[in-house]
Amino acid sequence: MADIKPVATRPLPDLTEEDTRSFWAATNTQRFVYQQCGSCGMVVFYPRQHCTGCTTGRLEERTSVGKGTIYTYSVVRQSYHPFFRTQVPYVVAWIDLDEGPRFLSNVIGVTSPDLSLIGKRVEITWEGHEGVSIPLFKLI
Ligand SMILES: [Zn+2]
Repeated sequence: MADIKPVATRPLPDLTEEDTRSFWAATNTQRFVYQQCGSCGMVVFYPRQHCTGCTTGRLEERTSVGKGTIYTYSVVRQSYHPFFRTQVPYVVAWIDLDEGPRFLSNVIGVTSPDLSLIGKRVEITWEGHEGVSIPLFKLI
């Protein structure tokens, strides 16, 4: 009898974590949300209980239009994780969304990862899962 190995899947976030729960809940409807301070205007990301600018302001939820610029990136060519080793080579990048949040994600569909991607424009594409979607990016 042969062993049947389960198909490796992407590790998913903890949807019960108090600070990030609202962020991941919004991804289920394919919305990338961030916070902005109603007092000083500071954009706050990742989700927190207080403003990182004035520490006292009232944080309001905003929704990104989902476009941004690659700040920097790396090409992963070897991975020991059961899922990610099926994806190599892949691009991990810090993305500056147009509204201000900087987010670490994958840029998918890059056929020539050796070309410089710094400064390239990207937009969100969603990878759907049960109860959550993962914001990935593609070049535009
Ligand atoms: Zn503030």
